[in-house]
Amino acid sequence: MPADLIDGAAIARGVRADVAREVAALQARGIRPGLAVVLVGDDPASAVYVRSKGRATEEAGMYSVSVRLPAATTEADLLAQIDRLNADPAIDGILVQMPLPRHIRPDAVIRRLDPRKDVDGLHPVNVGKLLLGEDDGFAPCTPAGVRELLVRSGVETRGADCVIVGRSMLVGKPMAALLMQDALGANATVTVCHSRTADLAAHTRRADILIVAAGRPRFVTGAMIKPGAVVIDVGISRVEEPRARQGHIIVGDVDLASAREVARLITPVPGGVGPMTIAMLLVNTVRAARRRAEAA
Ligand code: NAP
Repeated sequence: MPADLIDGAAIARGVRADVAREVAALQARGIRPGLAVVLVGDDPASAVYVRSKGRATEEAGMYSVSVRLPAATTEADLLAQIDRLNADPAIDGILVQMPLPRHIRPDAVIRRLDPRKDVDGLHPVNVGKLLLGEDDGFAPCTPAGVRELLVRSGVETRGADCVIVGRSMLVGKPMAALLMQDALGANATVTVCHSRTADLAAHTRRADILIVAAGRPRFVTGAMIKPGAVVIDVGISRVEEPRARQGHIIVGDVDLASAREVARLITPVPGGVGPMTIAMLLVNTVRAARRRAEAA
């Protein structure tokens, strides 16, 4: 029997409805969570992401600001903009859309963020808190979204053999840190694979839960998956498809057709992990607002 699909869009709607309720409760106390998204340059894909983040923020009843800066913006100017947002009492969360133009160092920008407003969870303070298992930081939105998908789909992570393909700071590493914690939706035994892993398939075939974030379209096939496994496909790639209206389609890192024959549960692309990333950005922003209110 083919694997069931995990409907990330439906689960994300549930998360966003929870967020909207929390926002309403905060507003009743005179607090309106605010998110600023900063975009430097005019990369069309980034512009689409920024627009959808802004729309989702407003739909949840939050205050949304989109800061658009020209591609020629200097690093010093961007840092000055971050300083202004750090000091702005209407802003609880700041997200700087990546990638930045080449003349701006992403690390310098991330380190300039007030960690209490770093709702993307990339500041070293938040990376450290995640590893320490302290819950007053922020986990990056995509791995946090994957964990939420697993929890809301009733997947048991405790004691599970979990294999992650990819070790980026955005997905693979924080995913490993989340799943190895002694916490709800965690307590897994985690293996992290990367481009230097010898015999990748030997690892992936052992996984009760396989999470793929390699940026290689359809490279994990059914033959690399353990029968009955749960497969989470984080990858998003655009591949040419002459029959498609726009000449391309969006695919993940997993070959869905062959993987479905082997797995028990699997996320589709699009409609799996993607919608959860935005939902978790809203969750983190509300959390930031609540903490600020509690600290006042
Ligand atoms: P990344 O920074 O390029 O990292 C890719 C990782 O995969 C690296 O650690 C790399 O290993 C590893 N890798 C590459 N080829 C491999 C291979 N053949 N075998 C084993 N490991 C391999 O990418 P990322 O930012 O983590 O993103 C990964 C994918 O997720 C991309 O398709 C991206 O578009 C997507 N993504 C989706 C969302 C979402 O919201 N759904 C969010 C973020 C990213 P090395 O470290 O050895 O190079």
